[in-house]
Amino acid sequence: MPRKIPKSLFDAKLLPLWRDSKRFTAHPLRVAPTGGKSKHFSGGPAPHAGSKCPECKQKLTLLWDLDLTDPLIPDYAREGFSPCTRLPLYICWQCVTASYAVTSDARLKCFPFDHHSDYLEEGETPFPDAPLEMPRRPIALQRIPSTLDALASLANVIGLNELDKPARVALDQSLSTKLSTDWDLPFSQFGGQPLVSPRRGDMVCPNPKCPANELTHPYGEMQRPYLMKEMALIQWRDEPILAEHCFQLLYFICGICFSMRAEYRCS
Ligand SMILES: [Zn+2]
Ligand SMILES: [Zn+2]
Repeated sequence: MPRKIPKSLFDAKLLPLWRDSKRFTAHPLRVAPTGGKSKHFSGGPAPHAGSKCPECKQKLTLLWDLDLTDPLIPDYAREGFSPCTRLPLYICWQCVTASYAVTSDARLKCFPFDHHSDYLEEGETPFPDAPLEMPRRPIALQRIPSTLDALASLANVIGLNELDKPARVALDQSLSTKLSTDWDLPFSQFGGQPLVSPRRGDMVCPNPKCPANELTHPYGEMQRPYLMKEMALIQWRDEPILAEHCFQLLYFICGICFSMRAEYRCS
């Protein structure tokens, strides 16, 4: 059975966000390694039974382990993932994708690949020797200011070189770097509009039992709001294994049953 639909998702104030954008949350959070204490981590042992790829049978690797009790994460996300208190972002290093739903802090359910799945065949992965368990490191979530969000989102759509000089200067200052190409722009983030390239088309829920899997409204109408939202991006610069091959991982989320898909982008 699909999970109960969190009522808060259909609040009047959230409807424009869900109808007109691919944002899972209005406000993006930047995710970066930290030397300090944190309740969020990258890497570490995989605590979920069932974290095995249904295609190649390899164990999934835990990349991010986010604490859903963080007040920076909106209530409707917390409610949607309930009873989980943590949100794990997994990947199969062989197929460089994953489709699953977390059902508790100890278990997840992987979905078989479907015709929307973009995965690498045996022998194609650039990560055959990647460790199944990454070193556990604390990571910090930090709110991205709206000015940076707006400029970065615009640059991601029209290209960095199309921005005028004041916008380029503001972007460089916000990121404390000198951006020279579009490839310099993306960063790891949760929520908001992840800066992916190349951008893909619409994505559909991988859960065969979810009404959104068939792209139909539970009562029969076709509804775009039921397409998956773009929830998180792990940028290659922030993950040493991804950095070897300049990979980005984009995590989609279904707003009905909160199942996820991970897809790779290579730049
Ligand atoms: Zn696999
Ligand atoms: Zn779904």
